Amino acid sequence: MEGFEIRLTSSKKGKGLFATKKYDQGDVILEEDPLVSCQFAWNAAYRYLACDYCMRQMHYPPETTSIMLLVRILAYIQQSSDPSAAIAKVKQFCHRTENEDAELVHKLLGEQFTHQMNTLREMTSHVVSGDEVQEFLTPEGFCTLMALVGTNGQGIGTSPLAMWVNSVLEITMSDDERQQLDLFIDKLYQYVEEESGSFLNTEGSGLFQLQSSCNHSCAPNAESTFPYGNHRVQLKALKPIMPGEEICISYLDECTLQRSRHSRQKELAQNYLFVCWCERCSSQASEPDCTSEEEMSDEDIDADD
Ligand SMILES: [Zn+2]
Ligand SMILES: [Zn+2]
Repeated sequence: MEGFEIRLTSSKKGKGLFATKKYDQGDVILEEDPLVSCQFAWNAAYRYLACDYCMRQMHYPPETTSIMLLVRILAYIQQSSDPSAAIAKVKQFCHRTENEDAELVHKLLGEQFTHQMNTLREMTSHVVSGDEVQEFLTPEGFCTLMALVGTNGQGIGTSPLAMWVNSVLEITMSDDERQQLDLFIDKLYQYVEEESGSFLNTEGSGLFQLQSSCNHSCAPNAESTFPYGNHRVQLKALKPIMPGEEICISYLDECTLQRSRHSRQKELAQNYLFVCWCERCSSQASEPDCTSEEEMSDEDIDADD
């Protein structure tokens, strides 16, 4: 029996994932393959070799993936034996009003977004067309799809190095050996960073039907991992979760999650268009809007762009 259900939350968050049984820390809540996934276009430029279907064995960074994911959604619909069922599946992902979609795409593509989106839409319709996908190739439909990818796309990390590090850390060894191993791994990451810039453990992006209904919390009780070195996601409990409790992950990266309420909320408002009222945010509601010097310089940078 599954230990979770997807249902409407009491707040404005829409759908959410809720536990229907107790989970202990480390328990696997669910595992699933994505509806569609794709790797970053510049994996090739970095000479990271990977299976184009499941992303096994490869490496590297950001946003070129949104476009490919979008094309794959259209191809998924077009190649499906039942296109209307496929469209219904795609439409289950969180979607918003037309204005909100436009705001998200603006953030995704920058100032020239209207022009760029039209160019992308024209190019996309050269690659995929047909009655089944027509509704997504209108200006509004295309904008909706871009916003859907922007808010629901889950980064997929399949680093073979990280897999090796995890396996090797599980080996039983003496304290002395452990210390030497830790030093070696630190050095290894340092070399990787010198060679290829900051080490990013993300290689692609995918749409997951169940996992995408997980809402955000700044004090998450679950996390998404990729333990098989491919695009199969595993949702894991970070702390005990009681029946009826909402299962939440963090949409923010590790670093942003450590920052002040002000910084977290700014990031969430810009990228996901919501105000977070998680336990942690609520308890910090009385904190001043700007807290540290770091936050100040962050504001300055924002003012320039
Ligand atoms: Zn594969
Ligand atoms: Zn929060």
